[in-house]
Amino acid sequence: MSLTVLMNAGPWLSVPPPGYGGIENVIATLVPELRRLGVRVVLASVGSSTLPVDERVSVFADGQFASLQRPYNQVCGVAQAHLAGVVRELHSRDDIDLVHDHVEAVGLATLAAMGPAGPPTLHTLHWDLAKHPALYGSLDGGDRVRVNGVSASQLARAPLALQEHSVGHVHLSTPLAVDADRRPRPEKGEHLLILGRINPGKGQDVGARLAHRVGFPLVLAGPVGPYHRPADLAAAGDEARQNPDVRFFLDEVAPHVDGDLVRWVGTVAGQERDDLLASARASLFPLRWEEPGGTAVVESLALGTPVVATSRGCLPELIEHGRTGLLTAEEEELGELVLASDLLDPDECRRVAAQRFTPAVMAQRYVELYERVRHLSRAP
Ligand code: UDP
Repeated sequence: MSLTVLMNAGPWLSVPPPGYGGIENVIATLVPELRRLGVRVVLASVGSSTLPVDERVSVFADGQFASLQRPYNQVCGVAQAHLAGVVRELHSRDDIDLVHDHVEAVGLATLAAMGPAGPPTLHTLHWDLAKHPALYGSLDGGDRVRVNGVSASQLARAPLALQEHSVGHVHLSTPLAVDADRRPRPEKGEHLLILGRINPGKGQDVGARLAHRVGFPLVLAGPVGPYHRPADLAAAGDEARQNPDVRFFLDEVAPHVDGDLVRWVGTVAGQERDDLLASARASLFPLRWEEPGGTAVVESLALGTPVVATSRGCLPELIEHGRTGLLTAEEEELGELVLASDLLDPDECRRVAAQRFTPAVMAQRYVELYERVRHLSRAP
């Protein structure tokens, strides 16, 4: 297949990400499969990205994640100007067929502003859009900018203007969702795990109270705002409270973190993350937001850990209640479901993941969408 895609990963983190990094993980999973299918990939990212690609362009040497806190607009402005230059040059030489963008404040803003002069563009929506309508107010790139969701429920909640530009949804995947039958069955420990950003939407406070109620150990893994390790947060002092996720953690979660039954271990990565997830008795998602795509959900299944969750956002699309997890609309019922989750079969979780959430399935679907976007951009 002769197709060249400019993949815009944005300025925040390297690809693959050093630990936490939802969007960067998606790109790191997707790109190798696309290349296997013959797609040429130009990666627009930061200099520290190590993902093998055919060509790369970068505006910053390192990820600007820490700047998500303050000079946000400055970083976006620099990244937008750089991307606009790169896209204009490559497009004028016919060196790219399509831009696959993942970063609304940088990529989508830039590409939509180019209007009909820009290349065909597919923007993947990664957020709960009902909460961010303003971000997409300027989506008027003629027929050249299209969007896709990461779940049907995310698209259904999106503002109408976005739905009109949609070409469908593609579920997230994980490289862990392969060889289910060849890997040894994971040794299960006692702990429950919540893997993800510490944030009110992810509900770590609900999980922590639940753990004390049912008496099961709970591990909370993930960053609190920009702080990846408990020691970093402790060292930051009062200034850290400017971040809403830090305030949430200190006020609502930390009072239940006793270092014994409930622990916050900071961001986990690589084998440590996989072992923590594979050995959990269940993975908990006491969500208060409409989870748009849920990478950690599919990772959990792929490692043979059933999911116990509030049935919000994409959870009912990803989890088959009674087979790969247990879902409830009522937060108070989560405790009972945790107790019942021991009856679910870890191997069944892995088998389902290896059918539905492999990188190959995701890449194949994106190639179909790329063709559709190019076709639509040519239509009179
Ligand atoms: N993650 C990680 N270490 C952590 C916390 C999260 O590697 O300590 C990863 C997690 O495995 C997943 C991603 O970060 O791949 C989070 O993506 P998800 O879609 O679950 O949540 P988001 O943060 O994008 O809402």
